[in-house]
Parts: sequence; structure tokens; C-alpha cells
Amino acid sequence: MLGARTSRLPSTARAQHLWFELYWLFALSADEPSALPEKQNSKLIIMPERAIEEYRIADEPYYLPVDHEVDLFAAAHAAHLPVILKGPTGCGKTRFVEHMAWRLERPLITVACHEDLSATDLVGRFLIEGEETVWHDGPLTLAVRHGAICYLDEIVEARKDTVVIIHPLTDHRRRLPIEKRGTILDAPADFMLVVSYNPGYQSILKDLKQSTRQRFVAIDFDYPPPDTEAVIVAREGGIDEGTARDLVLIGQKVRNLRGHGLEEGVSTRLLIYAAQLIALGIPPTRAAEVAMCSPITDDRDLQRSIREIVTTVI
Ligand code: ADP
Repeated sequence: MLGARTSRLPSTARAQHLWFELYWLFALSADEPSALPEKQNSKLIIMPERAIEEYRIADEPYYLPVDHEVDLFAAAHAAHLPVILKGPTGCGKTRFVEHMAWRLERPLITVACHEDLSATDLVGRFLIEGEETVWHDGPLTLAVRHGAICYLDEIVEARKDTVVIIHPLTDHRRRLPIEKRGTILDAPADFMLVVSYNPGYQSILKDLKQSTRQRFVAIDFDYPPPDTEAVIVAREGGIDEGTARDLVLIGQKVRNLRGHGLEEGVSTRLLIYAAQLIALGIPPTRAAEVAMCSPITDDRDLQRSIREIVTTVI
């Protein structure tokens, strides 16, 4: 029996890292001059380093290990190997990277990849500011310069020519060519490149090329096992474990509909959303419907099937 709890939500372990906001990309590209090698411009100024400290994660992000992923990631960092995290959306990849950045005491710079993301957006650009030409590091350069962890979320969304930029960083060279400045930046030992990839909904046009994927060690992610997922949902959603177990059971049954018209199962993130609504007094069936039914499909028949699952469990 699901029991609603109206206690306030616990403050979840929030990531302290900053995302490079998209407006940065657009605002800065407006008055970008073409490539200006350093030596040709007497007034070249390198932007003072942005406070890398802003990207440090002060408080431990809550992460419940599922397998040996913590040890694997730490070993990859020690061996200077880049890592690819494979798994469906909302199953804990980002939270894991945040947790590992905190554990390894490295700043974390996250970039949400999209089809307009250019190599310049990642590496950096010259901007004319008054009389001066100022170089601005992009997120990847900033991470390399400071030995941070750079997390490229959903790498396949980036343009092919953008993905190529990471190649020299992901083999024994571990270096970033900064073409526009005619320089090369060697990555310090602590620098680590991490990318995420959801193999579930890739088309042939948007698959990761072998020449790219064979540069990474891969850690496979999936929805946590039921007992673990219930603990996570209870904690993150602010509900009791019995209620969380019911939500997880619904989640499992909905995930079984994959292959029957459902592209991807309901994520741990959505189970937590349902839990958060329940914690705020929304009736459990309603919460489950709005968080676990409508968001994942527009197909009326599938929605009906999911609603039946919800009412059977609750
Ligand atoms: P992804 O990056 O895979 O899309 P997230 O890392 O954003 O997914 O996960 C969604 C949410 O699920 C997180 O915010 C977190 O609350 C929760 N979560 C998933 N797995 C775990 C886990 N193993 N430990 C703690 N929280 C988890």
C-alpha cells in the first residue's frame, strides 16, 4: 500500500559544478574575428584564468554504487585513460561523474553536447574587446589546463568534426592542439576525459564511430537493481522505502514494455520525480501517471497499459 508523506523534501546532494551556459556560446560568437596567431598581434591578451575553483565540488554528491564502477573509474583516472559511460537516460551517469570528481578531488567541467557544438566552442576563441584581442578558453581547454575532469554529455549529439578534436587527447599523446593560437597544450596527469553515450536510441546516422569509441574504456550503466533503486528513490524523493518499492515495481513492469512499442524504459530520474510529488501530497496514482506515464510515450494504447500497471501495483 502506498502511503503519502508530506514531509519536506530532504536537500539532495547538489552538484556544485557549473554547466557552460549556452548563451555563452552565442553571445561570444557574435564578434569573433578569424584566427589570430599570437605572434601577429601585439595587443593580444590571454583572459585571466577563470576561477577553476568554481568547478570544484565541495559536498559529497550522493551516489550508491551498483557494481565496481567506483574502483574502475578511479583506476582509469590513475592510468590516464579516458572513459565512456554507456547507458539509458536518467540511470545515474551524471551523478556518478559528480561523485567521482568529488572523490578524486578534481574540478568537473560539464558540456551538454548538441548538433551546433563546434570545435571552437570546446577549445576557445579570440574576441575583440575594444582595442584588444582577448583569447577565451573554451571548456575543454580550461579542463586540460587545470587537470580537471571534462564530461562531454551525450557525445553523439556533437558534430563529427567536433568529436575529432578530442582524438589527440584520448591516446598516448594526451594533448590538445589549439589551432587558432598555433599552440599545443599537454594534458597534466590529473586531466580526464569522460563522455556519456546512450546506445538505446542511436540511429545509424548518429552512432559513435569505431575510430572514436575505441579510444575509451567503457563502463556500462543500467537502471540500478530493484533493492538499490528503492533506496535511491526513497532518499532522493523523500518518501518511505515501502512506497519507493512500489514505484520501482511499476518502473520494472513499464521497462518490460520495451520492444512492445516503448523506445526506452522509465528512468530512475522519473521514479524520483514521482516520489517527490508524492512527498508533497499528490495522490500516488496521479503522481505515477504524470511522472511515469505521459512523459515517456504519446501512444494512447501504451499509456493505457502503463496506467493499468500503476493501478495494479498501487
Ligand atoms: P543520467 O546522467 O544517466 O541521465 P542522472 O545521473 O542525472 O542520469 O540520474 C538521474 C537521477 O537518478 C540522479 O539525479 C540521482 O538522483 C538518481 N540516481 C540514479 N542512480 C543513482 C545512484 N546509483 N546513486 C544515487 N542516485 C542515483
